[in-house]
Amino acid sequence: MNKKPITVTSPLLPPLEQFIPYLEQIWASKQLTNNGQFHQQLEVALAAYLGVEHLSLFANGTTALITALQALHVQGEVITTPYSFVATAHALLWNRLTPVFVDVDEDTFNLDPAAVEAAITEHTTAIMPVHCYGRPCDVDALQAVADRHGLKLIYDAAHAFGVKDDSGASILRHGDLSVLSLHATKVFNTFEGGAIISPDAATKQHIDHLRNFGFVDEVTVVTPGINGKMSEIHAAFGMLQLQHIDGALQRRQQVDQLYRHLLADVPGLTLKVREQGSNYSYFPVLVGEAFPLSRDELYQQLRDQQVHARRYFYPLITEMGPYREMPELRERPWPRAQKIASQVICLPIYPDLSDEDVARIVGIVRSSVQAPCVKKVS
Ligand SMILES: *Cc1c(COP(=O)(O)O)cnc(C)c1O
Repeated sequence: MNKKPITVTSPLLPPLEQFIPYLEQIWASKQLTNNGQFHQQLEVALAAYLGVEHLSLFANGTTALITALQALHVQGEVITTPYSFVATAHALLWNRLTPVFVDVDEDTFNLDPAAVEAAITEHTTAIMPVHCYGRPCDVDALQAVADRHGLKLIYDAAHAFGVKDDSGASILRHGDLSVLSLHATKVFNTFEGGAIISPDAATKQHIDHLRNFGFVDEVTVVTPGINGKMSEIHAAFGMLQLQHIDGALQRRQQVDQLYRHLLADVPGLTLKVREQGSNYSYFPVLVGEAFPLSRDELYQQLRDQQVHARRYFYPLITEMGPYREMPELRERPWPRAQKIASQVICLPIYPDLSDEDVARIVGIVRSSVQAPCVKKVS
């Protein structure tokens, strides 16, 4: 087989010549960073695009997560999900916080509000859920839990660019803060980048100070801030990306629908559907018992034919180095997350993926159904 490799994602990247005029402006201005013109433009334009009011750009999503926890003075224990990218939990360790992992909902793969409430102790000060694959958390139930116990609610919304809640408004308006990643692998990228969405101007201003060493003006530092600033090159690229994002989202939706159509009747595969308000950032499939191959066998079969699907999120964060050895994690009361992690595979989805590519991927998946169980003899 000498087919061209297909990766799980491929970055949204407009034609290079469209970026040159932006670079010329930066060279002319000689302002490379520190709240330059593109940075200012992108904060306003992104907030408008997303339907939020107060947005602070960051150099990346992880620094934004770490800063969000600082901004709210979170201490002690924070309840979060084991079913996420490892940066969610790393942001807690970088703030010397204790992550308390609880189970997810079996349908949404997001934090189960009942499990969250059951895990609250006198040391709990915050909840950090993830809108996994851009599927909204049960924001009302989580807010109710937070309110009942006086907890902060910080969403890791790294997957949720452009996602709407059930009322059609931005999912990013929920909780005390929401954090986006604008990394190359995400739906909307600035190569590296991130953002915090705040509920009011005062919070945004505090976060902007934290992002820039704590400087308020040339001679005044109010807080031990970090350097989390987005540069002019990244912000300019974001302005260009905004011209292309609608087309990219439309194509993602088409790919999503094509997969659904072509895979709907395959026994043992569970597809996760959200018709409205999605950003089609991932295409997760659960490989169940009724499918002739295990998830790992399917993963390998795809790989053998140059299709690099990914098992996000396997292994769980709680199975990874710094977390696995934590004494308080010995009991592992998250059977649903474990089951999902053992069954999930994310199929390739990105704007440049052609219908033929989708057909090729589906063909490999279906081939194991039509000619099942030709097990390798070792
Ligand atoms: C990508 C991602 C992050 C980290 O974002 P970066 O911009 O890469 O630092 C955090 N949480 C989740 C769930 C992610 O997928």
